Amino acid sequence: MPSEQHTNIKVAVRVRPYNVRELEQKQRSIIKVMDRSALLFDPDEEDDEFFFQGAKQPYRDITKRMNKKLTMEFDRVFDIDNSNQDLFEECTAPLVDAVLNGYNCSVFVYGATGAGKTFTMLGSEAHPGLTYLTMQDLFDKIQAQNDVRKFDVGVSYLEVYNEHVMNLLTKSGPLKLREDNNGVVVSGLCLTPIYSAEELLRMLMLGNSHRTQHPTDANAESSRSHAIFQVHIRITERKTDTKRTVKLSMIDLAGSERAASTKGIGVRFKEGASINKSLLALGNCINKLADGLKHIPYRDSNLTRILKDSLGGNCRTLMVANVSMSSLTYEDTYNTLKYASRAKKIRTTLKQNVLKSKMPTEFYVKKIDEVVAENERL
Ligand code: ADP
Ligand code: MG
Repeated sequence: MPSEQHTNIKVAVRVRPYNVRELEQKQRSIIKVMDRSALLFDPDEEDDEFFFQGAKQPYRDITKRMNKKLTMEFDRVFDIDNSNQDLFEECTAPLVDAVLNGYNCSVFVYGATGAGKTFTMLGSEAHPGLTYLTMQDLFDKIQAQNDVRKFDVGVSYLEVYNEHVMNLLTKSGPLKLREDNNGVVVSGLCLTPIYSAEELLRMLMLGNSHRTQHPTDANAESSRSHAIFQVHIRITERKTDTKRTVKLSMIDLAGSERAASTKGIGVRFKEGASINKSLLALGNCINKLADGLKHIPYRDSNLTRILKDSLGGNCRTLMVANVSMSSLTYEDTYNTLKYASRAKKIRTTLKQNVLKSKMPTEFYVKKIDEVVAENERL
């Protein structure tokens, strides 16, 4: 069975252009993209009073720790003029090939609220996001291989909100997680069989309409939940009848800013605290994987339990760290870059899935029309 040593996590940073609020306020750019893989993080110490009014903590506290200017290297740095299409071509199109060759793959977007995660993952009609472009490509490639291989495709879309796992396609939950020989199983989760990219994208839209969204001070469009869109594919070689099951996961993480920065109280505060718990657990897993440790604390949160086979281990992972270039968000930007550079250090061995992981037994329980009809009744 082929097995190779690989850099199985790629970390890209995406810098977004100024938004209207940033343009209206006194601020400057603290990020300079040097080339395709390096950036300079340069908060200007001298002008901190002027530029950093309203900052969440004294600016100097942070710069003291980080020695002012920092040059950082990643697998790829995307500047403000790079499009979703650019990210797709360079980062996720190769993952589609890997999936079809039997590797679990996942893409997740990380960053503070407003940094551009949803723009990157979902995009808009004018700028289709990575999920849209990747799914189109997946089905084009499936079509092209149809003579020699049979593909059974199923989709699930989960949300982790306050540690509750919800099924976004059927608007049901909370679902329980349990462990079995194949890893973590989401109890009661039905996959929906899919026959075209259009159907897959229809499910994506349906799930999105069920996401838990609350406006916060930071961004009226913000989502306080983690959304996990997973495509499960059973590949059967027509000649030999060899089967393998692979999974492509697209994860739009909740905002990584601290609970304190959303001025949360009551329910809102609890959301913030619990998002931190999940992201903290994710950060701990990343740190331990980066240090090459054996015990990885996946069990510490539901997000990391679900992502267990999507991080390290037998999986190729792309992390897109989204940041704004504005000095107004320097603290979030610094924290995101720090998080991303830890992730960059993860290196593990990769194995193809051959007859290893089973498709959940519930695979064909819910037909797409049933899901749609159920939702129309809601
Ligand atoms: P997040 O999901 O991280 O909270 P969003 O993706 O919703 O952030 O982005 C916040 C705002 O910035 C949105 O209005 C979005 O359209 C815009 N935006 C984000 N990234 C870009 C980009 N690369 N180019 C243009 N606009 C962007
Ligand atoms: Mg978002």
